[in-house]
Amino acid sequence: MRTMKVEFYGHVRQYHNIKSEIDANIHTVLESGQYVMGPMLKKLECELAGYHGTKFAVGVGNGTDAIWLVLMALGIGPGDEVITHPNTFFATAEAIWIAGATAVFVDCDPKTKCIDPAKIEAAITPKTKAIIPVHLYGQCADMAAIRKIADKHHLKVIEDNAQGIGAAGKGFKIAELSDAATTSFIIQKNLGTFGDSGALVTNNADIDAKIRKLRNHGSNARNVHSYGFNSRLDDLHAGILSAKLKHIDEYNDQRRQWAARYTAGLKGCKTIDLPTELPGYRHVFHLYVVETKKPEWRDQLLGFLVKNNIDAKTHYSIAIHQQAGYPWGKGARIAGSLANAERNAATCISLPMFPELTAEEVDYVIAKVKEWDKEHAPASAAPKAKKAVPA
Ligand SMILES: *Cc1c(COP(=O)(O)O)cnc(C)c1O
Repeated sequence: MRTMKVEFYGHVRQYHNIKSEIDANIHTVLESGQYVMGPMLKKLECELAGYHGTKFAVGVGNGTDAIWLVLMALGIGPGDEVITHPNTFFATAEAIWIAGATAVFVDCDPKTKCIDPAKIEAAITPKTKAIIPVHLYGQCADMAAIRKIADKHHLKVIEDNAQGIGAAGKGFKIAELSDAATTSFIIQKNLGTFGDSGALVTNNADIDAKIRKLRNHGSNARNVHSYGFNSRLDDLHAGILSAKLKHIDEYNDQRRQWAARYTAGLKGCKTIDLPTELPGYRHVFHLYVVETKKPEWRDQLLGFLVKNNIDAKTHYSIAIHQQAGYPWGKGARIAGSLANAERNAATCISLPMFPELTAEEVDYVIAKVKEWDKEHAPASAAPKAKKAVPA
């Protein structure tokens, strides 16, 4: 097999494939003279609400702002606790920190890596106000179970859906069982613009109205202001996103096909575990994350792939509760063992995953992972392995 370079992202390929549609929308915005809070943003918000089947969609500056703006709109802040899990992008907890609330970390499910609903109740105190499940790597958390707990304890639920646009659970859609679902449109997400922006979708008119003001200097009428910020989704990005949103289902289907090809190609490997899709769920594979069965293998396999020009990465090799930069003592609390999240941080490897991959590239990645696996598989399981297992 010839060597090749396999990138982690395909942003430019995607642009080239739908260049005329993106360029047309950019042209429309430039010619309109309306670049902030203009008609293209309105159009995108309508399309996002339509896509999710929600009453409202609000564009904001980025996916992190979307989370803390929802917390703020719900009146959650200092003195309140918000439950989430630590094996996610830092921003999930960062948003809780910005809102002034205390993050409470519970462990993830060992298989899906999403929050383990069975761990939530033990973490609830009289201060608990909300749960933020993350649809990690593109697979929905168990929202039905989370909704039940939230109802029993009168908690709000905010879905951090930065990684799962287009995903669905068994019998539920995004934003159907929560107060709001937030998302990020930074370029590397499944729906990404050439820069930063984010949004939230909700069926709650109060959240919609509050965030429309908060994002725009506390104003919804000229010269009239109350407490607020500047966190807007500008019209150029709205135009780019509107063009891409038309293709999101096709892009996610393509990701699912590459995931199926990885899984079929790698299923015999002895040194790694492969991602699981829950029955009845639609996983949109923002990331295709394998885990080495031994932590000491992670950097070896990652190094081998990188040496072979495969741009593999880790998501996320330092869990949030392991970050020295988090405000321990006042800004966060750990509830119970976080062993699954810690294991995930020590063993995860994300293989290249984007719609515009080619079969040749995916097969090259599979071949290289298998080559490493053959070398390192335990001798008893692979009698022909050339080397013994490292001690
Ligand atoms: C990307 C991401 C965010 C933050 O989005 P930004 O647009 O970068 O602020 C939040 N949560 C998760 C899970 C993410 O992956």
